[in-house]
Amino acid sequence: APIWHNFMVEATKELPIENFTAPLPEKVNKAVLQGKSANEKKVRICKSCGDKLANENCPANLVEEKTYLEVHNILYYVIKDNPRGDYPKKQTDPQYSAWEGPVQRWAEGQGYINEDPPTETCLLHEPDKQPSVSFTNLKEGDVITAASILIQANAEAPLGIQQVDFYVNGQLIHRDTSTPYQTDYTPSADLNSVPVKATVTDKVGNVVSQEIRVSFHPPSAQVLTVSLTSPSSAVALTSSDFPYTLTAHAESSAGLATVNFYLQKLDGETSLLGEVTLSQNKEIDASLTVAAPAMGSYRIFAKATDINGKNANSQSVAFTVSNE
Ligand SMILES: [Zn+2]
Repeated sequence: APIWHNFMVEATKELPIENFTAPLPEKVNKAVLQGKSANEKKVRICKSCGDKLANENCPANLVEEKTYLEVHNILYYVIKDNPRGDYPKKQTDPQYSAWEGPVQRWAEGQGYINEDPPTETCLLHEPDKQPSVSFTNLKEGDVITAASILIQANAEAPLGIQQVDFYVNGQLIHRDTSTPYQTDYTPSADLNSVPVKATVTDKVGNVVSQEIRVSFHPPSAQVLTVSLTSPSSAVALTSSDFPYTLTAHAESSAGLATVNFYLQKLDGETSLLGEVTLSQNKEIDASLTVAAPAMGSYRIFAKATDINGKNANSQSVAFTVSNE
């Protein structure tokens, strides 16, 4: 073509420019003769219905786009000897099946669905079809100090429950497919205000959750320490040193309830000097001012108790009271 083009440019360059009358476009009524026979439609289908149109309530993971395309070979639309005439009433052309087979195989290979797209809309995910779930024995802000707890949830679903999943701090800890929906949970460490979630999934893929924040302080993870700081080592006192102030430093991850001070005779007999009541302090220097005991040699120690009743003793320190 470039050679012929160059030849014509050269051959006609001396000739005047002439125009020709453009032909009128042919008017045809059949879509196939206008190149429009393939009717492609992309639609969003909800997988839980199988073959219905998805709407905005359908879960995204259940929605898939499918392409419907009605496509046939040309003999489906025209009679060979009268292409502009009526559509063939039945296929009598001997070539029809030989032409149609490859067209259908091509359409299948392209992933087209060779049928009309559905017109009905999925109604399985409307608000009134949604399941519900709620904890029955836990609420927002709860503090669990027991070694383990039975977590229970109530779940309902108009379309039937598939499963109820329990999560603590983002980890799936249990899945139930039948009632009762509950699980034992034994925290292995202190967990401060972690999310606890129950999720119900119904039989058509509707998913609803309740999430609350709960703290777990199991006894195994609770730290409780106490040490005598005044006196911190052996002391010899006289009656003029009294009243004398005893001090103990106590720490508890669960919270302190009391610090008690004890005086122990050398034969082992122990008496309570006094109790300091605390208000769930995590760390405190508890002090108690005492009068002089009878002259003698003793040991003295402090005992801390946390809000769960767990105890710890301090070191015991020699405590001698004499006349001078
Ligand atoms: Zn749906």
